[in-house]
Amino acid sequence: MTKKMNVESFNLDHTKVAAPYIRLAGTTEGANGDTIYKYDIRFCQPNKEHMEMPGLHSLEHMMAEFSRNHHSQIVDISPMGCQTGFYLSVINDESYDAILSLVEKTLKDVLVANEVPACNEVQCGWAASHSLEGAKEIAEQMLSRKDEWTTIFAEESR
Ligand code: ZN
Repeated sequence: MTKKMNVESFNLDHTKVAAPYIRLAGTTEGANGDTIYKYDIRFCQPNKEHMEMPGLHSLEHMMAEFSRNHHSQIVDISPMGCQTGFYLSVINDESYDAILSLVEKTLKDVLVANEVPACNEVQCGWAASHSLEGAKEIAEQMLSRKDEWTTIFAEESR
């Protein structure tokens, strides 16, 4: 095994996971007792598939905006550079089931959205790179495999 890295996901064997899945990637305790829970929301099988950038970018805008209608303590939701998933961080919510529900509700919002929020040059850094339809396809695909979200490693499903 290679040396232990600082970043939790760099210690994850990406050849052993079975996407799609939702995995607790780590917790960070604050000095005042607050805990941040960071989740790895994996849409695509690493090194086999990935999301195309315009759809991924629009999905990012919509998940960032819509998820906050369903949860009051979201720190951040942001895409992975490898384009296979998102990281979601929340404060003081230890419930895995709550996160599953949050992701489901947010993706369902994406399916019925009529426009991508904030896809203009004032509110976004690359306003030309968006696809509402692309985002909906990704959301639909992820939702259709909801029963697989809690299975993280390939061995578990055998
Ligand atoms: Zn943007």
